[in-house]
Amino acid sequence: MTANLDLVNRAPENTKLWILNLGNLECDEAFLKRNANTSTLSDPNPPERKRRKLVVISALIDHPSEGLILFETGTGKNYPEVVGPQVNDVFAQVDYAEEQDLDKAIEKTGHSIKDVKAVILGHLHLDHAGGLEYFYGTNVPIYVHEMELKHAFYSVATGSDLGVYLPHYLRFDLNWQAFYGDFLELVPGLSIHHAPGHTPGLCILQVNLYHSGTWIFTSDMYHVKENYIDSVPQGWLARNHDDWVRSNQMIKMLAKRTDAKVILGHCSETLSLWKTAPYYYT
Ligand SMILES: [Zn+2]
Repeated sequence: MTANLDLVNRAPENTKLWILNLGNLECDEAFLKRNANTSTLSDPNPPERKRRKLVVISALIDHPSEGLILFETGTGKNYPEVVGPQVNDVFAQVDYAEEQDLDKAIEKTGHSIKDVKAVILGHLHLDHAGGLEYFYGTNVPIYVHEMELKHAFYSVATGSDLGVYLPHYLRFDLNWQAFYGDFLELVPGLSIHHAPGHTPGLCILQVNLYHSGTWIFTSDMYHVKENYIDSVPQGWLARNHDDWVRSNQMIKMLAKRTDAKVILGHCSETLSLWKTAPYYYT
């Protein structure tokens, strides 16, 4: 049985998809959900300021004609040292095992990170683009939306949005490849939809597999299940609320039309519904 597919190609029958678990971060819930931890007149000091654990996710696709394609790269190695004590105090790495380094996580699939032929980034925040370090000085194309690329460099150069983008991976020895507009079918069965709101150039990835049907990887359009299931807007990490509302409608309709399995940016609860590498979907 195959699921209902969108108006784009299905990937070839022997395409494989692995979901990689790249560790966990933890932060105040108010970064993720509007009005979380808010004081009121009747409750000026909420007794419990909730914190949330954020799983870091990546996806690896073995495509028969295109080779290995990686969607997002996680935090990169040595996160606490690389981002520094201030950032690691706000978005703290917790419960990390070395096997969650990107290269080791890819080894679980039977492949080497050196065999990755292309990288697609949903957006360029430090917990999604940190693993670009493995691709410095290589010719591997790094696909990212034009608006995200411009915004990330601008934010770091002017200091307008520091702490979420970091200068060390915004470099000129990466083979940046911009994509444009609202929609692009990058290779047969893999398509990208522009979904601004969390950042101006955020994109989601739609993968139409032959047997298991449509998968949607949302990057940080949704951090946790409440953002998606209950349409609770993002908290302090939202950059444009109206864009987010429009993108939310587009993704909901896309998911309904395709009967998609939706993998949220950082939700361990919904991720636990699926199997991670070495298991793969076809
Ligand atoms: Zn994130």
